[in-house]
Amino acid sequence: MAKPQSHREAPRKVVVVGGGTAGWMAAASLVKFLGRLVEVEVVESEAIGIVGVGEATIPQIRNLNRALEIDEADFVAGTNGSFKLGIEFINWRRLDHSYLHNFGSIGLSVNQIHFHHHVFRAQAEGYGGDLWDYCVNTQAARAGRFAPMERLGSSPLGGVAYAYHFDAALYGQYLRRYAESRGARRTEGRIVEVIQDPESGDVERVRLEDGREVAGEIFVDCSGFRALLIEGALKTGYEDWSRWLKCDSALAVPSRNTRPPRPFTQAIAREAGWQWRIPLQHRTGNGHVFSSGYVDVDTARETLLANLEGEALAEPRLIRFTTGRRRKFWNRNVLALGLASGFLEPLESTSIHLVQSGISRFIQMFPTRPIADAERDEYNRQVTLEFERIRDFLILHYHLNERTDSPFWIDVREMDVPETLTSKIALFKASGRIYRDAQDLFTEASWLQVMHGQGLTPQAWHPMADKLSEAELRDMLANIRQIVTGAAAKLPSHADHIARCCAAPQ
Ligand code: FAD
Repeated sequence: MAKPQSHREAPRKVVVVGGGTAGWMAAASLVKFLGRLVEVEVVESEAIGIVGVGEATIPQIRNLNRALEIDEADFVAGTNGSFKLGIEFINWRRLDHSYLHNFGSIGLSVNQIHFHHHVFRAQAEGYGGDLWDYCVNTQAARAGRFAPMERLGSSPLGGVAYAYHFDAALYGQYLRRYAESRGARRTEGRIVEVIQDPESGDVERVRLEDGREVAGEIFVDCSGFRALLIEGALKTGYEDWSRWLKCDSALAVPSRNTRPPRPFTQAIAREAGWQWRIPLQHRTGNGHVFSSGYVDVDTARETLLANLEGEALAEPRLIRFTTGRRRKFWNRNVLALGLASGFLEPLESTSIHLVQSGISRFIQMFPTRPIADAERDEYNRQVTLEFERIRDFLILHYHLNERTDSPFWIDVREMDVPETLTSKIALFKASGRIYRDAQDLFTEASWLQVMHGQGLTPQAWHPMADKLSEAELRDMLANIRQIVTGAAAKLPSHADHIARCCAAPQ
C-alpha cells in the first residue's frame, strides 16, 4: 500500500484569481484556517474592478466573522454597515400585499411539532391572530428596532437572529487588510493567459499582461462572471436555470438616505421583476432585477429611478447574467467561487453565503496529494444540492403568486417547476409540514414564511396540535405573544443602536 504523503514538508501554493468579495473571503479564510499548510497569493486587476453590488447577507455570515475573530462593532463601522432582521416582500403575492421573511424562529416547538401547526389550528377555530405575532424579528422590524439579543429574557424563546447590510467594496477591502496582515500576498495585474499541464490538464500557472507568471498547485477561480479558469481554460460547462428564474438583468444605483436605516431589506415586486432597497449608514443601495424578455432596459431604468426614496448618487449600472450553475464547482485543480461558480439572483441574499459555504466545504475537503477524485466528487455533490435547494426556494417566491396585472407574473405562476419543489409545496398544502434535507440552507421557518406569505394555505395541521385543550392553547399563545411583544418593545431604535455601537467614521 502506498504511504500517505505528508503535508508538513512544504506549504501548498494556492493562487486566488480575483480580488472581489469572493477572492478576499477565500484568501482571509485560507490563511486563517489552514495557516502554514498554505501559501496564498491573490492576483487581481484594479483596472477590471469588481461587481461590488452584493450588500445584503444572511445570519450565517456571523459564523464566519466569529471564526475569523472579527469584532462586530469594528466590522459594521468599517463597512458603513447596518443590521438586517429579514426581508420585506412587497407586492409579491398580489399588489398592496406585503410580508416579512424573518431570520430566526416563529414561536417555539411545543409537543415536538413546529409551532405553526398550533397557530393554524387556532386560526381555524377563530383565534390565534397572525403567524408573525409570534416572531420577535417581525415585531422589532416593523417598529424599526434592533439590538443583539440571544434569548428573550428567561423564556425558552430564541432571541433576535440577524445579519448585516454593508458596502460590498468596503467589505472586500476589510478582508484584504485582514488577509494581507496574516501573510496573503497580492499581485496586481491583468491575466492574459492560463497555462495548463499538457498531460494532466491541470492549471499550472497564469501569465500577466506584462509577462510575469504566477504558478500554483491549487487555483481558486474568483474572477467573477469572466470565469477565466473554470470556464475559459477548463470548459467546465454551465447548467442554465433561466426557464424557471426568468430575470437576466439588473440595474444598480445608490441613493441618498432620506430616513433612518430600516433594519431589513426590501424586495418590491415590479412589472417583470423586483427592486431591492438596502439601507446603509451613508447611502441606500438600490437595484432593479428584471427579465429582458418582458421589459426593456429603458423602462426598467425609469421604473427604478421613479421608485428611489432619495436622489440618485450615480447613473444606474447595467449587469447582465444567466441564472444557473457551473457543471462542476471543483474541476481538476481549480475551485470556482462567487460569480465564477454560478449565479442566483439576490432575492434571498445568498451569493456571499455560497462563497462562505464553498470555502468551508473546501477546507473540510482540503485535498490530499495528489487530489483524489472522491474528494472533488463529494464537494461537487454537496454544493450542487445547496445550489438546487436555493434555486427552488427562489422559484417558490415567483411561482406562488396571485397577480393578474402582467404577463410575467402570470407566466411564472403557470410554469412547470422542479419536482423537488412541487413535492415540497404538496406536502405543505396537505398537512402544513415542511421537509428539508441536510444541504438545504433555509430552515423550516423560512420555507413556512414564504409559503404562508405567498398565500399557500394548508388543508390540515399536524394531528399532535390537537393534544392541547382549547383553553391550554389559548393560554399558551397569549403567553408567547406577550413575551414577543414585550421583548421587541424593549429594544432601542436601529439608528440608536448603530450610533452607540458602530457608527462609521465621518
Ligand atoms: P467580482 O466582484 O466580479 O470580482 C472579480 C475579480 O476578478 C476582480 O477583482 C477582477 O479584477 C478579477 N479579474 C477578472 N478578470 C481578471 C483578469 N483577467 N486578470 C486579473 N484579475 C481579473 N450577493 C449577496 O450575498 N447579497 C446581495 O445582496 C447581492 N446582490 C447582488 C446584486 C447583483 C445585481 C449581482 C450581480 C450580484 C449580487 N450579489 C449579492 C452577489 C455578489 O455581488 C457576488 O457574489 C460577490 O460580489 C462576489 O463577486 P466575485 O468576487 O465573484 O466577482
